[in-house]
Amino acid sequence: MKIVFASGNKHKIEEFGAILKRYMPEIQVLSMKEVGIFDDIVEDGLTFEENAMIKARAVAKYGYIGVADDSGITVDALGGAPGIYSARYAGEHGNDKKNNQKLLLDMQGIENRAGAFVCAIACAFPENSPYSDFCVRGECPGVVLYEEKGEGGFGYDPLFFVEKCQKTYAELSSDEKNEISHRAVATKLFAEKFVKELSDKE
Ligand code: IMP
Repeated sequence: MKIVFASGNKHKIEEFGAILKRYMPEIQVLSMKEVGIFDDIVEDGLTFEENAMIKARAVAKYGYIGVADDSGITVDALGGAPGIYSARYAGEHGNDKKNNQKLLLDMQGIENRAGAFVCAIACAFPENSPYSDFCVRGECPGVVLYEEKGEGGFGYDPLFFVEKCQKTYAELSSDEKNEISHRAVATKLFAEKFVKELSDKE
């Protein structure tokens, strides 16, 4: 069986495929490019789940099983911001440095630093398929530090301190991060639900 992951990020596709294969060794995870889909997908949903489903459906309409994720950091004291706007919080898509600076600025004087990394993964099936579309959500709770700590990872990693590890995401090795991260939690939930959806309707 083949599924198509709606992302241009090769690393994400490999990481997702590696976890899914533990549950379904025969599964093949392909990129949109590999199946010749080059659509520019507009992510205009209002939640992580909506955005993930928009991307998954954009692939399913071509007759493939479409899978997509959407992730970001949510901070309680900021009413859930940066949230779905995490990648372009400071206005420029993917500028990690500016995003981190803006987050620290917005949290100046705020004592409640609690938040979470969130990852939604959606699965959409082609029209007339017997299976039902679904979405799962993985979270990793943590707190936003007052300054960056650690060299690894990307994005908000150096600001995000995970209490149960006593380290920031940026201080964890990639193996450690892949055990506890929002993406790892969501991927495991996805794999379990995907296997169940398929086996229930066999
Ligand atoms: P996307 O899921 O690749 O669209 O990620 C959206 C944005 O959320 C990224 O650009 C980062 O700013 C942030 N983000 C998502 N996952 C992580 C993570 O594991 N570490 C740090 N930042 C993340």
